[in-house]
Amino acid sequence: MNVMDIFETMEYGPAPESPAPALQWIKERQPFGLFINNQWVKPASAQYIDSINPSNGKPLAQVAAANSADVDAAVAAARAAFESWGKTPGHVRARYMYAIARHIQKHSRLLAVLESMDNGKSIRETRDLDIPLVARHFYYHAGWAQLMSSELPGYEPVGVVGQIIPWNFPLLMLAWKIAPALAMGNTVVLKPARYTSLTALKFAEIMQEVGLPAGVVNILTGEASQVGEALVRHPDINKIAFTGSTDVGRSIRRATAGSGKKLSLELGGKSPFIVFDDADLDSVVEGVVDAIWFNQGQVCCAGSRLLVQEDIADSLNSKLRARMEKLRLGDPLDKAVDMGAIVSPGQLEEIQRLVSQGVEEGAEMWQPSWACPTEGYFFPPTLFTNVAPATTIAQVEIFGPVLVAMTFRTPTEAVALANNTRYGLAASVWSENINLALDVAPKLKAGSVWVNCTNMFDASSGFGGYRESGFGREGGKEGLYEYVRPAWENQSLMKAAAHANGAVSAGEKAVEGTQSVVSGEDDEQANGHAAWQLYSDKGFTATLPSIDRTPKMFIKGKQVRPDSGYSRDIYDPQHRVIGQVGEGNRKDIRNAVEAAHAASGWAAGTTHNRAQILYYMAENLAVREEEFAHRIVQQSGRPYADAVSEVQTAISRLFSYAAWADKYEGVVHRPPLRGVVLAMNEAIGVIGMACPDEYPLLGFISLVAPAVAMGNTVVVVPSQRSPLSATDCYQVFETSDLPDGVVNIVTGERDPLCQVLADHDDVDAMWYFGSAEGSKMVELASAGNMKRTWVSYGYARNWLDAEQGEGEEFLRESTQVKNIWVPYGE
Ligand code: NDP
Repeated sequence: MNVMDIFETMEYGPAPESPAPALQWIKERQPFGLFINNQWVKPASAQYIDSINPSNGKPLAQVAAANSADVDAAVAAARAAFESWGKTPGHVRARYMYAIARHIQKHSRLLAVLESMDNGKSIRETRDLDIPLVARHFYYHAGWAQLMSSELPGYEPVGVVGQIIPWNFPLLMLAWKIAPALAMGNTVVLKPARYTSLTALKFAEIMQEVGLPAGVVNILTGEASQVGEALVRHPDINKIAFTGSTDVGRSIRRATAGSGKKLSLELGGKSPFIVFDDADLDSVVEGVVDAIWFNQGQVCCAGSRLLVQEDIADSLNSKLRARMEKLRLGDPLDKAVDMGAIVSPGQLEEIQRLVSQGVEEGAEMWQPSWACPTEGYFFPPTLFTNVAPATTIAQVEIFGPVLVAMTFRTPTEAVALANNTRYGLAASVWSENINLALDVAPKLKAGSVWVNCTNMFDASSGFGGYRESGFGREGGKEGLYEYVRPAWENQSLMKAAAHANGAVSAGEKAVEGTQSVVSGEDDEQANGHAAWQLYSDKGFTATLPSIDRTPKMFIKGKQVRPDSGYSRDIYDPQHRVIGQVGEGNRKDIRNAVEAAHAASGWAAGTTHNRAQILYYMAENLAVREEEFAHRIVQQSGRPYADAVSEVQTAISRLFSYAAWADKYEGVVHRPPLRGVVLAMNEAIGVIGMACPDEYPLLGFISLVAPAVAMGNTVVVVPSQRSPLSATDCYQVFETSDLPDGVVNIVTGERDPLCQVLADHDDVDAMWYFGSAEGSKMVELASAGNMKRTWVSYGYARNWLDAEQGEGEEFLRESTQVKNIWVPYGE
């Protein structure tokens, strides 16, 4: 036998990792209690649930089943702890977080083995990927704790955070949630998934080891219906962070709507894996293995749709089949195993059901010739070819090791096929032509795009979705903003709460000192209808009516009549009619959204061009400063000087966003790999917005300017009470080279119009500055397509104040971060 024979006949022998230390650890502690206020306590229900080892179907441990009484206790502990943790200096928090990272490394093998046994994933993955990334998250965020005061000035922690995580990366999801929360000074109540609690319980022990102050981290195991729902509805929780299915995410959006709780949702996906014909096919094959058979395909960003350029489809498919034949599936604790078990019998049945449906729908299924172990919950790697893009398996998240392949001919077709999904979490692009790859990457509607690589994660680079994959980012600096809020907001909210009891809100106070009843010259200005001028010619004297200026809607760059054929009167503070505007309806909103979509080329234009147009708008507004000031006086009854200052602030605001248009660009991350991650700030798309009643011009400009500066197109419902300042802007837009459809304005009753916008599937985000009830309605309705929302909950802002009325908060709400991973080297 020569070396070649040996090489070709070589077989893997078993390389088992011992479960003994982990089993001993479990034995000494079970049944496990709940971790509240740094103590192990018995569940109020006295009930326990089994955690099963999916690789053999046998019970592994008993964990406590918490109920709402335990949730109350944990939230109370977290609230009490927040009093001091929220004020603890960043450096002190950084030290704790550094210690947590070190302890995770010290217990890394125990954590890896526990994770493998509890979840069914291979030890190779838990040991080499999950646990090292967990430690990295705590190190990275220790840095942000240290830098918070200098890098996020003016921000403070949100408070008590409820965090709900899934079973596919149990400890990693915990780290993604807890690390940024603690770094920013919040306290936490976390619920692990019911199938996979064990590493979270070991993590709780680590909290004791590092001496984290009591109540900062609380961990409640148990069922969704008892713990998850109670957390979501708890009145003393300030934010919910959730990772899991889109359906549950949608129900959480609905349950929290109008409550003022901050929310971030990381949901499902059906991510495309695009292969062009010049790609290195051997690398592609390994990429596919990592994309869809990593963690048995139970990965939210799994590359589950293989889109292949037609001329190489056959050769790639045969290479893939050869590779699948060699994949090793079996005991997750065997270090030579590629694929482990599916997490639960329910998940296995769901995969089987969808695969049968794929076969019934006419797709061609291929599986390797070897058989899966009969004990435990296993499913073989599966490839579907001949798949029609509209079939169930091409659209629905299977969350198992099932790849569906389709073909395309041109890059344009590849992008269209890739974006043909309600999700938008991730995508991979494979081509040796970097120009092609970097041309395609920005066109993909996905939060992460991997060029010639896949499933890359790092704490430095934010992760999160578009569309029904949720909103909010985890990781990177952008992820920190999910756990803070502007300090002024807290004061403003407190004043507004006092207002509910008879005091005055911050926003009203801002306007208050400036209010006066109009008289004399102003009075004439105030009543447009009364402003009939004396006209005298050749001894004949008559009164000449001013030319009627009933503004229409502004859609696609044109002034159009309202579909309803109705107008509404606009009054001054003395309840005199000063004009009319169109009464917008559902049809007007639909037309406006269509126009905004048609103008999507705005995002692709240069930032320089957008800046130029914003400067031009400022210039044209300045020319008409006096006229706009009079209009404000007329609508609000405020003194002229005060109105001038509103117009001047609006001009300055246009300048600010013209300045930002080519500067709010993103960053380049250097994660620990040979390559870079380009974190690009992208426009969100079409933003629906309802403007505040206070400051009719400034409120309008303060919302429209940042959105369009960042490349969005907008459908604006101006102030219901004082819309005339916004409708006067039509002429400013028309003379400033603003392309048709970038700004569309529909006047009328705010809430019914916003309901249509919030329900609309083609609106990507919704901003609402109005009542508390309207805010709730918008959040509820947005659950339809999981659009991002930004609402005021009925609280007023002082729009004149630069801290409240402009800046990074507005730019952040106007953008989403796309991370494009570009490894380099041959
Ligand atoms: P879920 O979304 O049901 O569960 C995720 C987490 O939310 C778990 O901790 C769960 O608790 C909890 N939860 C469930 N319902 C509620 C609720 N109404 N209120 C509050 N918390 C709740 O995912 P599943 O585990 O059921 O998996 C189903 C599908 O979800 C998968 O097939 C996959 O398609 C998708 N999924 C996506 C993930 C992602 O990373 N994007 C991760 C996991 C699943 P409990 O465990 O007690 O049920």
